[in-house]
Amino acid sequence: MSGWQDSNLRPPRPKRGAITGLRYTPKTGANIKLFILTTNTNFYINFETMSLEKIKTLIIGSGPAGYTAAIYASRADLKPVLYTGMEPGGQLTTTTDVDNFPGYPNGIDGPKMMEELKAQAERFGTDVRIGEATKVKFSKNGNDLHEITIDHDKVLQAETVIISTGASAKYLGLESEQRLIGGGVSACAVCDGFFYKGQEVAIVGGGDTAAEEATYLSNICSKVTMLVRKGEMRASKAMQHRVNSKANIDLRYNTEVVEVLGDNVVEGLKIVNNKTQEIEDINITGFFVAIGHKPNTDLFQGQLDMDETGYIKTNGKTTKTNIPGVFASGDVQDKEYRQAVTAAGTGCMAALDAERYLASRAD
Ligand SMILES: Cc1cc2nc3c(=O)[nH]c(=O)nc-3n(C[C@H](O)[C@H](O)[C@H](O)COP(=O)(O)OP(=O)(O)OC[C@H]3O[C@@H](n4cnc5c(N)ncnc54)[C@H](O)[C@@H]3O)c2cc1C
Repeated sequence: MSGWQDSNLRPPRPKRGAITGLRYTPKTGANIKLFILTTNTNFYINFETMSLEKIKTLIIGSGPAGYTAAIYASRADLKPVLYTGMEPGGQLTTTTDVDNFPGYPNGIDGPKMMEELKAQAERFGTDVRIGEATKVKFSKNGNDLHEITIDHDKVLQAETVIISTGASAKYLGLESEQRLIGGGVSACAVCDGFFYKGQEVAIVGGGDTAAEEATYLSNICSKVTMLVRKGEMRASKAMQHRVNSKANIDLRYNTEVVEVLGDNVVEGLKIVNNKTQEIEDINITGFFVAIGHKPNTDLFQGQLDMDETGYIKTNGKTTKTNIPGVFASGDVQDKEYRQAVTAAGTGCMAALDAERYLASRAD
């Protein structure tokens, strides 16, 4: 803060010392000077302001979708800025073994893989920043820039925005379940089922995803105990039929999990029949939670078209949303596949869509 005097300014003659006016000089991406004009002296306050930055491409999220979008966008000279969010590296940082991402014949540790994706994006110039998008104001007409607030105070204006904020698996919320995530508790049968080949596992959930994952596990594991809280399944009749046709799926209705047993790895489950209150311990080595996902889209509610469960709708085979210049990639727009490689694939598509959008505006 510094002061300034100006004897040439001659305001009318109110009381001595009264403030007679305010004047400010906004500067994009710089400081703002607020001039305070008084009858005695005029001075300014030089604020370190909420800076405003203009960029071509903003990527929100640092999972496989976000980093792949960043690799493609930076190689296309879109000079992307990527904000990592609260979970730098995304969902894969919560798992140890990723065995199905192409290019790693011996598998790879999840956090290590995400470090490598980050390094690859940075190699081509992606500006990776720690921070979370906390507010967005998308331009509906495609002429103005999109405005995104980071951590409540920094405002960015972007010509294109790629949303890769992922989806979070829902858990039961038991202390024992949370403690054993990565030690036999998993929210992804397709990702982790293989590690329980020939073993006895359990899965909780009654919807289509649970039915599909139970069927998937039944092809790998010796026995699958499927726990459904209600007296019937929510899954479609076709999916129920598939579950019922598997001899090694033991379907238990009206059953809830009381505790996941085991100190460091899953050794069993304590379950209760909520009709009879009968408690039972079962021996298993893997416990799969399939009670749904929540796409991380609260921030975009009311601005982007979404389906009834909050997944962002994209246009046909593209990553285009209903707002020109705003694209969505990864799990945030995909409730079908939810895999790292599919997220990465749509990240690539989003960067290409953004690049083409910018080129068409320049024509
Ligand atoms: C335990 C587990 C094991 C798995 N194992 C495998 C596997 O072996 N193989 C496989 O293919 N898939 C696996 N998956 C699935 C895979 O992790 C996901 O499909 C994939 O990570 C989705 O990538 P994404 O980029 O769409 O989102 P995510 O990986 O979910 O990343 C989302 C990113 O968005 C950021 N973000 C969210 N909100 C904001 C915000 N407001 N501002 C800024 N950033 C924000 C988060 O911080 C995060 O970085 C596993 C999932 C889990 C949970």
